[in-house]
Amino acid sequence: MGPPRFRSRKDNRQAIRFTRNARFQVTVGGKLRLPKIGDVTVKWSRRLPSEPSSVTVVKDAAGRYFASFVVEVAAEPLPKTADEIGIDLGLTHFAVLSDGRKIDNPRFLRRAERRLRKAQQALSRTAKGSNNRTKAVARVARTHARVADARRDFTHKLSTHIIRDNQAVVVEDLWVKGLARTRLAKSVHDAGWSALVNMLEYKAARYGRTLVKIDRWFPSSKLCSACGALAGSMPLHIRSWTCPCGASHDRDVNAARNILAAGRAERLNACGGTVRPATQRRAGPGETGSHRGAA
Ligand SMILES: [Zn+2]
Repeated sequence: MGPPRFRSRKDNRQAIRFTRNARFQVTVGGKLRLPKIGDVTVKWSRRLPSEPSSVTVVKDAAGRYFASFVVEVAAEPLPKTADEIGIDLGLTHFAVLSDGRKIDNPRFLRRAERRLRKAQQALSRTAKGSNNRTKAVARVARTHARVADARRDFTHKLSTHIIRDNQAVVVEDLWVKGLARTRLAKSVHDAGWSALVNMLEYKAARYGRTLVKIDRWFPSSKLCSACGALAGSMPLHIRSWTCPCGASHDRDVNAARNILAAGRAERLNACGGTVRPATQRRAGPGETGSHRGAA
């Protein structure tokens, strides 16, 4: 029996999804039975909490196969807390919180990313069709997978902390945010951000927290979070400023505070029905939800 075949030959990362209609099955012996492929041995990362409704088999750029299952998960609400937080997904830091904390990509992730860049440069210097090129391609793929793992790990820890400590979490919708950013910053950060927001979303649903996405653009950097006055132009190099009201602001912390305030206003407007019932989530090693979180 050969490995599953995939639709695209050009994309390095390939995926195929089976729904229950397609008659995939987890056998009594713990193997994954796929239509037309047969029984596949699985190294389980955890027990499936319930019958999966679909499975996605992914072959990543390093040639590793992952199965990720969609399962219904019972909510496990955490004890309520009074704390709420706004998050600004910044440029100089990975995330800035309304309580003043600034979160950077951890050193192990930055190191892995640096190694990836080097591997990519080395690859670009090899001749097409050469043995060295084949080796360099494999090295890039391996390094890429390591970066993805490190990022997933970091994002899991961060999202768990944020959800555990806060009753409500407010973020700007990434699409809105994207309009305000340059192409460069976008390519560097987007994958990591959307992975974080995905995790915040399903963990909020699971643990009885509320995730609010501000889906309208507003000048979060230019607004004084103390008095509400709108400052003049605020080019990116300005990292701190003082409002005529006397409040002095760190640019990103101020933005995160405004995001929190906007989220509170939005929840007050939407009387009732703020709790989202979504309890679908993925389980398994490819847990980011979006496998593009690998950048
Ligand atoms: Zn002010």
